[in-house]
Amino acid sequence: ERTFIIGGNWKMNGDRKSIDEIIKFLRAGSIPVNNEVVIGVPALYLDYVQQRKPKNVEIAAQNCYKAEKGAFTGEISPDMLKDLGVKWVILGHSERRNIFGETDDLIAEKTAHALEKGLKVILCIGETLDERETGQTNEVCFRQMKAVANKIKDWKNVVIAYEPVWAIGTGKTATPEQAQEVHDALRKWIAENIGKEVAESIRIQYGGSVTAANAKELARQKDIDGFLVGGASLKPEFVDIINSNA
Ligand code: 13P
Repeated sequence: ERTFIIGGNWKMNGDRKSIDEIIKFLRAGSIPVNNEVVIGVPALYLDYVQQRKPKNVEIAAQNCYKAEKGAFTGEISPDMLKDLGVKWVILGHSERRNIFGETDDLIAEKTAHALEKGLKVILCIGETLDERETGQTNEVCFRQMKAVANKIKDWKNVVIAYEPVWAIGTGKTATPEQAQEVHDALRKWIAENIGKEVAESIRIQYGGSVTAANAKELARQKDIDGFLVGGASLKPEFVDIINSNA
């Protein structure tokens, strides 16, 4: 059985005041003991949140670089994250890919380095609207997976987040059937290209306009093992999403 894992991705949102509010509703809300919760916090606030978060919530960085240290102005390393007690990092988010031009290869190198350093990785993949409409959804997701599969062997500390780009921040959620179809295809690709055991055990989150209203039905799909939540992770309804598989 795969442990249900709910990620929040705050993106570039929040200040100490609004973070205090988020911590408050996370502390007040109940989290099923069998679920895992990880919130992706802007780097500047990782330490602030680490000092205040409830014990059953972990924090993630939203990015990191592929080297230990050095002349990489503006970057942060897995070693620095570990120094603060951060255990997770989100890599390959579509905003990193599309706004900041991160390539499949760079994301694969970052993933390999973060894993080597003992971090757990939420690896984001997903197709754009144009790619979906031209029938390339699987091809794109498999290509993004393959880049990483070329560089890592051990997948036990990886969670995949399938986030169709057209569903991110648009209010246009993938239907449970659309999401399940891709999750199923991914698991089959993993079985064939990485291994059966990895395919069975790896968690695949869905992300893209997840809300308290649509989470329950998505959570019922056989191959959906959790969510990566953007906008709604800043609001009290995140607690309902955390409980959506109950
Ligand atoms: P929204 O939930 O705001 O659509 O964002 C999804 C996302 O990109 C999470 O990483």
